[in-house]
Amino acid sequence: MSSEIIKHNPFQSMIDRFNIAADILNLDESIKQKLQRPEKQITVNFSITLDNGNVQNFEGYRVIHNTALGPSKGGIRYDTGVNLDEVKALAAWMTWKSAVTGIPFGGAKGGIICDPKNHSKTELEKITRAYTKALADIFGPEKDVPAPDMGTGPDEMGWLMDEFSILHGRPIHAVVTGKHLHSGGSLGRVEATGRGVSIITILALQKLKIRPARATAAIQGFGNVGLHSALFLHEKGVKIVAVSDVSEAFYNPNGINIPELILYYNLNNKTIKGYPNSVAIKHEDLLLLDVDVLIPAAKEDVITHKNAGDIQARIIVEGANGPVASDADQILHDKNILVVPDILANAGGVTVSYFEWLQNSLLESWRIHQINKRLEDILEKGFETVFRVAVKHNVTPRIAAYIIALKKVAETQSVKEVALEAPLFKQN
Ligand code: NAD
Repeated sequence: MSSEIIKHNPFQSMIDRFNIAADILNLDESIKQKLQRPEKQITVNFSITLDNGNVQNFEGYRVIHNTALGPSKGGIRYDTGVNLDEVKALAAWMTWKSAVTGIPFGGAKGGIICDPKNHSKTELEKITRAYTKALADIFGPEKDVPAPDMGTGPDEMGWLMDEFSILHGRPIHAVVTGKHLHSGGSLGRVEATGRGVSIITILALQKLKIRPARATAAIQGFGNVGLHSALFLHEKGVKIVAVSDVSEAFYNPNGINIPELILYYNLNNKTIKGYPNSVAIKHEDLLLLDVDVLIPAAKEDVITHKNAGDIQARIIVEGANGPVASDADQILHDKNILVVPDILANAGGVTVSYFEWLQNSLLESWRIHQINKRLEDILEKGFETVFRVAVKHNVTPRIAAYIIALKKVAETQSVKEVALEAPLFKQN
């Protein structure tokens, strides 16, 4: 393995930031080690019969990073690039995300190595049901609660819930969030992450005294997070000048008509490829545009030490998990770019997942305005706290978010553990 790959390992990026925050907190070595490692990591292998009659084997993972604050919570990713290090990093980020926003969940993540675009709906259903069977002892409304991530959505969550319910002989809606409404899903969940990204983006613009109506943005990724971020920011008057998905990137300095683009995307097999009213640009150039806000909303490590020096945006709002590798942090800081970290910026998803879990557990159904208002309150509070702690410790918002999360999880963990006998913070 080359050193380049090791450097851009998302788990290593998580550890790099964790260590800075832990040192500032003077966190005891034993609790530090405990919180760096997952509580559990499970690899499952299963096979399904494909539509053509062949049998295919799959490998999947579920990593429970930490359960100090509550049942573990985290999405399931279907992608050919899924690997254990990636899932470990994503699971840890879920722990920190819930802690920063005050959601009473721990962190987990799952994934299956597969290309969902190469499977029929029937095959995806079989894959999801087989994965659920393999992890039936791990999942549970008070234990570990999955949700959608890249390559999965309400269909997969509905199949997971159904399979889990069959295995337990009764309907158990709260085992998973991000379901269709008819399967016990919550209003507002599908668009929650993008809505949250837009709320956080407006707050970040306000910090830099930029009026939304005068702001420009470029968005990488036009899936669940990218599409909804684009839509809500467009509605708030921000001019979206560039978007991309895996097939194409394009630019229109006059602003892209996002509702029109969404119509095109929905009629075009869920891709923006071939959209007429703009100019095609190179994928990597989207990240370097002179815009007020850059929203990477596709995948990890798209901004590294290699391109960070060329970024011109004034604000980066991390819609994706881990889009900035830790080796880019200092470069962006030196360039005075405000980076709103993933564990705050995209926490809208886990927040409304929590609302869905609560509604399922309480047999309630909340109204959309109630959901959106609570979401906004939680994210605003999270944003204020992160920026207050950043000023207090003279650190970046990312390190401030880690400080808040680590402190909260470490304190709760120490109450649960025999480590009570050891001091939580080092004595100087
Ligand atoms: P998705 O599968 O719905 O969409 C991913 C998008 O990224 C697609 O448009 C895809 O074409 C595009 N993409 C992939 N590779 C690309 C590339 N190289 N260049 C440009 N575009 C590319 O996934 P999603 O749910 O929107 O998740 C995106 C990111 O947001 C992931 O990092 C995920 O972990 C994170 N996230 C998702 C949620 C959620 O609720 N879905 C919540 C929090 C964080």
